Amino acid sequence: MYAVFPIDGRRLELVQGDITRQEVDAIVNAANPSLLGGGGVDGAIHRAGGPEILAECRQLGGCPPGEARITTGGRLKARYVIHAVGPVYYDGKSGEPETLANAYRRSLELASEHRLHTVAFPSISTGAYGYPVEQAAPIALHTVIDYMRTHPEIELVRFVLYDTPTFEVYRRALGVQAET
Ligand code: ADP
Repeated sequence: MYAVFPIDGRRLELVQGDITRQEVDAIVNAANPSLLGGGGVDGAIHRAGGPEILAECRQLGGCPPGEARITTGGRLKARYVIHAVGPVYYDGKSGEPETLANAYRRSLELASEHRLHTVAFPSISTGAYGYPVEQAAPIALHTVIDYMRTHPEIELVRFVLYDTPTFEVYRRALGVQAET
């Protein structure tokens, strides 16, 4: 499943799939503050990318929520992995929206700094971290759209949503039709 939202001649895409298989300059990991691996998309990225990524992560000394760090992509097709730490959801009134937006924005700032043009994101914080996807999707999308409008070097952002319900929430939040 696929949907596209044009932004000033560039593309914001939604796809259902596995982020570890994306052929983009950087994939974003929904990491935890230790940067030492975990379950969900984090485990999948380290499994697919091999031990080199974890070795680099060990040198970084962790990452606070709302921040991001970059490593190479190991055996992945993507050249880089941007490790972003989202908020653990508590009640939605404890700074979670700001922290989530910061995680997306800081990831894109790292992409710009490293002259990367194509970036794939998972749905940060909506798995083990418990952020309701209906609340997280508009924050994720607004933050990325705002950034792309002011940073023409970012040519493609692709949200890679693992399951159909998550894809559908993002698609509806973006207000676009799915294509096949
Ligand atoms: P967090 O701890 O930030 O909540 P999780 O990895 O637990 O991160 O979940 C974030 C989202 O990533 C969830 O929607 C989960 O279904 C999804 N996910 C898990 N594996 C993959 C994968 N290989 N590719 C893309 N998304 C994935």
